[in-house]
Amino acid sequence: MVYLILLLFLIGVGLLWLARRRQVATGLPPGRVISIDTEHLGRLERSLYDPTLNLAGRPDYLVKRSGKLVPVEIKSARAPLGPYPSHVLQLAAYCTLVHAAYGQRPAYGIVKYADRAFSVDYNSSLENELLDVLAEMRRAERQKPARSHESVNRCRACGFHQVCDQRLE
Ligand code: SF4
Repeated sequence: MVYLILLLFLIGVGLLWLARRRQVATGLPPGRVISIDTEHLGRLERSLYDPTLNLAGRPDYLVKRSGKLVPVEIKSARAPLGPYPSHVLQLAAYCTLVHAAYGQRPAYGIVKYADRAFSVDYNSSLENELLDVLAEMRRAERQKPARSHESVNRCRACGFHQVCDQRLE
């Protein structure tokens, strides 16, 4: 289990490092401040799925701006100076899913914090970054260590019991 925690930690660090590298390379914050009113919008009810990437997810809202679909993600925390790298990657994943589900590639996505919203361009550089991260996560998934015991009780007491595909019932 320690290895699993370590693995999850490394994946998280890897995601942040990749996102941070992109931010430093462009020299620009990844989002522009915009205004958006989500009060009268309906939440997206169903999850979106991309069979090519075997990726599923659901943005909080899907809005139409100038005739184009734009995924919107809501965060309850106050806004940082620019959107967090992990939130930028999450938006990129939603843009990919919208493209797969509706055949229409979003030009950008929106992340809305409690006090401010940012638009994030969904360009080829961000898309490639997302694909790199997904490939890295799948590589890590394939290399995950096997269960090292045969104790049902140990699995039942484990915090990963609900999500672990190696658990003993
Ligand atoms: S559920 Fe069992 S096999 Fe899975 S991480 Fe926990 S102890 Fe290990």
